[in-house]
Amino acid sequence: MPSERHVHPITALIREMNSIFYEMGFDFAEGPELETEYYNFDSLNVPPDHPARDMQDTFFIKGQKGMVMRTHTSPVQVRYMENHKPPYRIIVPGKVFRNEATDATHEAQFYQIEGLVVDEDVTLAALKGTLEIFFSKLLKEDTEVRFRPGYFPFVEPAVEVDMQCFKCAGKGCSICKGTGWIEMMGAGMVHPFVLESAGVDPKKWQGFAFGGGIERLGMLKYGIDDVRLFHNGDLRFVNQF
Ligand SMILES: [Zn+2]
Repeated sequence: MPSERHVHPITALIREMNSIFYEMGFDFAEGPELETEYYNFDSLNVPPDHPARDMQDTFFIKGQKGMVMRTHTSPVQVRYMENHKPPYRIIVPGKVFRNEATDATHEAQFYQIEGLVVDEDVTLAALKGTLEIFFSKLLKEDTEVRFRPGYFPFVEPAVEVDMQCFKCAGKGCSICKGTGWIEMMGAGMVHPFVLESAGVDPKKWQGFAFGGGIERLGMLKYGIDDVRLFHNGDLRFVNQF
């Protein structure tokens, strides 16, 4: 029986990510898991008729009108901006909830990491550079990032972030399914609506934001093929870390 104490692999991963971003000048921020619909949706440019608010995706709270289990860590962006003067750069790791069926790559409860940078001269190129440094340090291999057009209501333009496969350096292998690239997260320039919601003047300030699943990063980093292993409480799994 192993007698030494372990931190859970997700906790270890969050600590490692925090320290990588800390070296790049990011501060740490957090917010509530039980969130108002205003912060989870409206302030992020997701109006009441938007499909993302659908009952199938969101856990609403019985008897608490206007409250949800947060579906992403993005509400913390608005909460932070309301209470701080720019410029700033923050990361927000935290638990999020989606009302969906679980399988090898989906859990109803999982962790996200979110990043936000607001300054007077922020560009998509700086976002790309930031993510390349982050992925390279986390996976201990130099890697590149590419953007594809995406759609998220709270960023404009929105991009899907792919990382060049860290195992095969883009040649094609089983991890990247032969494509040389791995889908990692969503990102983009913060929508002026979101800056305004939080009381930040979009004529003076710009921002970029990014967000992705922490379990997904862990699966790649540790070579795990079923996300459910992280949270099923099996110590034979946890003790390997
Ligand atoms: Zn590969």
